[in-house]
Order: sequence, then C-alpha cells, then structure tokens
Amino acid sequence: MGARILVIEDNPDSLELMTYLLKAFGHEAMGAMDGRHGLDMARAEKPDVILCDILLPDMDGFQIAREIKGSTDLAGIPLVAVTALAMAGDKEKVLHGGFDGYIPKPIDPGHFVAQVVGFLAPGARSPAGRR
Ligand code: MN
Repeated sequence: MGARILVIEDNPDSLELMTYLLKAFGHEAMGAMDGRHGLDMARAEKPDVILCDILLPDMDGFQIAREIKGSTDLAGIPLVAVTALAMAGDKEKVLHGGFDGYIPKPIDPGHFVAQVVGFLAPGARSPAGRR
C-alpha cells in the first residue's frame, strides 16, 4: 500500500484530478468536498497527509488548519494547502496559518504526486515503505 491521503477540495474537477493522480501512483486517496466532512474524515481515518484547499463552501482552510493543529491526535499529520497564491503575502499567510507547506494551483500533473510525497514522513513515502 502507498500512503493514505485526504484531499479536501470543493471543485469536483480538481478533486478528481488529484485523487486520480495519487491513485495512479499507488496511493490511497480519499476526498471531502467541504470542511466539515474533511475534518470528520481526518478524525476517523488519520491519514498520512492532508491536502486542503483554502476556499471551501462552509469554512476556509485556515479554520481547518486551526482545528487540525489544535487537536492532539491530528496535529502531527502534515497539512498542505493546495491553492492559487495570487496575492503578495499569500504564501506567508498560509505558512503562518498552521499549514506545513503548500502546492500551488493549477497543479502540475507531472510533479504533483512527487510534491505530495515530499511532505510525507519518511516511513510513509514509498509504496513498499508502509505496512
Ligand atoms: Mn475551493
């Protein structure tokens, strides 16, 4: 098995592309299309990494980051913003807002999975490295 990856993204095309790419590289991808379901899934599944959009219908990514980093059993999970950093200062805002890193949108299909894997703990990195 590869890594277990939660993707919180409300755009169905983006969600489908990310989960497709992750699965194509042997990872287990699960999706949530709003913050509440994303947090429920994070608590239930304890994924190896969480990818999170910033603009979501019910709450923004910064609220999700506060919930995850404020929760003792979830705080250690790498949390990566996947977002279009259009404004000057957005990168700092993301990295100071509780995220461990970010991947810019639009995602680059040729590099996306490697970018995600770079955020995993060493033991979860390779399909052979886990379980
Ligand atoms: Mn969005």
